[in-house]
Amino acid sequence: MCNKGEKETPAEDPGKDQTKKPTAVELATALVELGTTEEGLNAFLVTAGKQPLSASESSSSRSTQQPERDPTPKQSRIREQIAAVDVTKMKDSEIFALGAGTAKAMLSQVQQDKRAIICKDMDALAAAMAEDEDSTVEAAKERLLKNKARAFTAEKTGVIYFLKCPETPHDEIHETVHLVSAPGGKTVILSKFSELLNEGFTEFFTIKYCAELEVEVAPAYPEEVSFVTKLAKAVGLPMLHSAYIQNRGLDAIISSLADRWGKARAKWLAAFSTKDFPVPEGQPGREAELAARFKDNSYKEAPKWWNAILALKA
Ligand SMILES: [Zn+2]
Repeated sequence: MCNKGEKETPAEDPGKDQTKKPTAVELATALVELGTTEEGLNAFLVTAGKQPLSASESSSSRSTQQPERDPTPKQSRIREQIAAVDVTKMKDSEIFALGAGTAKAMLSQVQQDKRAIICKDMDALAAAMAEDEDSTVEAAKERLLKNKARAFTAEKTGVIYFLKCPETPHDEIHETVHLVSAPGGKTVILSKFSELLNEGFTEFFTIKYCAELEVEVAPAYPEEVSFVTKLAKAVGLPMLHSAYIQNRGLDAIISSLADRWGKARAKWLAAFSTKDFPVPEGQPGREAELAARFKDNSYKEAPKWWNAILALKA
């Protein structure tokens, strides 16, 4: 189910000057081998034919904004570096390679920091979650089972807990992607919209990064991944990467969709046989409606509405 997303990615121009370019995996590996230092990141950008970061964009100049006591400064640095890369003109394959290399570097950093714990069974995993969330083990277990979750990142400590199982290699990437997106995985999308939507973004990128890193994909959040895959097709990967991996939230995506909606008013109204789907007046009204629908996970109950929105051309 998850793997279907692969096919919906816009295809690279086949046969166009690909002979000498390193593969995405080679780029990712190079980045990881260089330890995601600023030099490593610049080497990646140069290899991909991009401008290296200028001193003003580098993380060192922003270190004054760091919280006083960061328990995982190297993880923060990895996040800052990927957040500083302008991906707007990068190819999808380069964006995925950059993310995969960053996820791999983050995972090895997490392991070095001893912040990955493998739990022997579901009870142990639920106990860890209950402690993090100040809930009961029963409530935590119920939620883990309902979400079919096999791992989670503790919001308080950033420690990742995994259930020992055949899917662990995939789950390590998934939880690491959470950490790449924000400290403890607490993204803008999570705080402003919904946990499930956030998981959809996480798993969408996890599947792509697993392909780059040759890690076997395990099913997780299929409905959410399917929605995020459609969203990626509608607005493009750079916007999606910026919203989730660079933790800028959905404002730009919502604004773009609201703009298209306003311009396609006549077409939109003609597409529905009833008057139950009006177009709100004005850009702010349309943005508010879109934000509300992102928030209530309406891609589950109103797939036709979302398909119509996502089919609008820019
Ligand atoms: Zn997750």
